[in-house]
Amino acid sequence: MSNQITDIFGSNVFSVSVMRERLPKKVFAEVMDVMEHGGNISMATADIVANAMKDWAVEKGATHYTHWFQPLTGITAEKHDSFLTAPQDSKTLLQFTGKQLIMGEPDASSFPSGGLRSTHYARGYTAWDMTSPAFVKEMSCGTILCIPTIFVSYHGEALDKKTPLLRSMQAVDSQALRILRLFGNTQARKVTPSVGPEQEYFLVDREKYLKRRDLIYCGRTLFGAPAPKGQELDDQYFGVIRPRVGEFMADLNQELWKLGIPATTQHNEVAPAQHELAPIYTTCNLAVDQNQLTMETMKRVATRHGLVCLLHEKPFAGVNGSGKHNNWSLTTDTGENLLDPGDTPNENLQFLLVLSCIMKAVDEHADLLRCAASCVGNEQRLGGQEAPPAIISIFLGDQLDDVVEQIVANAESIKLLASGKLDSGVSTVPVLNKDGTDRNRTSPFAFTGNKFEFRMVGSSDSIAEANVVLNAIVAEAFSQAADQLEGAEDFHAACSKLIHDWMTQHQRIVFNGDGYSEAWAAEAARRGLPNITSLVDAVPALLTDQAEALFRQFGIYTKSELEARAEIMYETYVKVVKIEANTMIHMASKHFIPTAVTYAARVGDAISSVVTACPEADLSVQRKLLHQVSSYLEDAAAALEQLKPLMDRVDSIQDIKEMAHAYHDAVVPAMDALRHPVDELELLVDKDLWPVPTYGDLMFEV
Ligand code: ADP
Ligand code: MG
Repeated sequence: MSNQITDIFGSNVFSVSVMRERLPKKVFAEVMDVMEHGGNISMATADIVANAMKDWAVEKGATHYTHWFQPLTGITAEKHDSFLTAPQDSKTLLQFTGKQLIMGEPDASSFPSGGLRSTHYARGYTAWDMTSPAFVKEMSCGTILCIPTIFVSYHGEALDKKTPLLRSMQAVDSQALRILRLFGNTQARKVTPSVGPEQEYFLVDREKYLKRRDLIYCGRTLFGAPAPKGQELDDQYFGVIRPRVGEFMADLNQELWKLGIPATTQHNEVAPAQHELAPIYTTCNLAVDQNQLTMETMKRVATRHGLVCLLHEKPFAGVNGSGKHNNWSLTTDTGENLLDPGDTPNENLQFLLVLSCIMKAVDEHADLLRCAASCVGNEQRLGGQEAPPAIISIFLGDQLDDVVEQIVANAESIKLLASGKLDSGVSTVPVLNKDGTDRNRTSPFAFTGNKFEFRMVGSSDSIAEANVVLNAIVAEAFSQAADQLEGAEDFHAACSKLIHDWMTQHQRIVFNGDGYSEAWAAEAARRGLPNITSLVDAVPALLTDQAEALFRQFGIYTKSELEARAEIMYETYVKVVKIEANTMIHMASKHFIPTAVTYAARVGDAISSVVTACPEADLSVQRKLLHQVSSYLEDAAAALEQLKPLMDRVDSIQDIKEMAHAYHDAVVPAMDALRHPVDELELLVDKDLWPVPTYGDLMFEV
């Protein structure tokens, strides 16, 4: 195969064009109809599609197929089955039936279900998501045909991240269409959320990585003194890409392109050894799938280059962590972006209505957005003085902010001219300049020209939840707007009033200043905006009456599905922190304390031998060093002695929520207390003795 990007692109995807080529016309038409408008294909059709899919995959070297799904672990799951049938006369045929394509029944009892699936109903079912194309994945265990699926329980409850996402897409589709109809749009038949996630990551040398148990078990360093140089010179951001990293990126692009993932932008990020990749945006659920594949491919390709890709939100203390900017907009099947301010006044009224709906949605459900961006790794980012702050606010940029100000100040500033055209009263609206909108990197939710950028999501996390919430809350605001406006006698007057009212009620969510400043935390508190600094405090957002009503209205989550998710979040928090604490105990007692003891003995021996050789020599430097090492050693040992029994106590708590809080309130500070003296020891102990690669080794020697 040629190396040209156009030949490579999508070559491992069973795409619409492959189907057009390989399926009988009638079958192809039926598949397309279901893909676009939902429903089920007949079993006869499924058989034909499955067979064509198998033939195509086998030509690509595939031996197995898998139902590829996204359980609540946050990563993807797969179980490979071969195409082989029972041999006859020592010959076998390859087979893949419609039934195997459409439905699977993995014995999935070990996936988290938050109590949704009691063990005697241990089965979960996977079902083909026809809106996301099948693909082949080239792995060390062979080439596998992957069929994107949803994953549900026997009773149809969602056990995955994709099912609610698809439900939320339907919700925003139907409600956005109601808004479009209000403006006389009869053409559009479908509105789809478009998503482009920007993925940040770190690369470290694999051999060095393998010398650190914290990286191996937890994906982040739990100890480590800062290197003499960090990111203060800003010489890494957009800097020249080092050759080894460059080779990784080139290889990664090839692999992603084969999978039909339009990776397009790559650059160095702020922290040393940190990088970013952005694809061209696509339909929401495809973007979610592709982001999962991107993360997986990054890890796989890194290994080939003797590197490890760290997707953790905060691999190193003291330098920036990694996130995922979730760029989100709404597009009609006729190509209109509802978040585009547009250049005709009529479209502006529609845009202003959409904007007021988004302001309302984000203000009323800030807690849900915060919760959707909560994963354990993000604890180290959100609420710290970096990346987006934990307080949800919207950044609009000067021009749009001005528009909102004027509309709030004077309802009449939106008025119809005699010609029937809208005079927004603000001349800047039609000429909104994309570059004028966003250069505020401190905002968690920024308007960037024709999309909103939700910047809170963690780098390792699935973007599914964030988009479920965005789709759902905006659908709700749309439905409330449509309820009010559909019967209005004077539509323009009613619409203008609604925009004015909602922008007035929800203007408090707009903030254009420095989101990292302490002044903002105080101001946000005055405005009554929630400041949820931790995952354990974010989870209850799922269980409010407000959340339940929202998700019930659109059939996105039932109450028990929400409860299950809350439970899994607490459970995951406990498990991850526990692994981290155990790893710290291991490293401190097996690596760092013995090393410091050895070093102290060596300094002691050096003192004795100098005393013997030259009794009158000044030994103050040696003695001070020995004193410092011994003192931090004592602190480390004391912290270790505290941490172990503390964990035993906390682990005996019965209630999972209480246990998560105890981990957060007691165990995490005890871990910090252990880290501090060890990091101080690292700065004192001879580098040749230190048992693990340091921050400098890891971040500056890739
Ligand atoms: P910015 O510089 O504002 O971050 P970029 O042009 O670099 O914007 O795009 C960042 C990401 O946003 C890319 O993945 C891009 O494809 C995506 N994106 C661009 N326009 C839209 C849109 N209308 N809806 C959703 N995502 C978009
Ligand atoms: Mg961006």
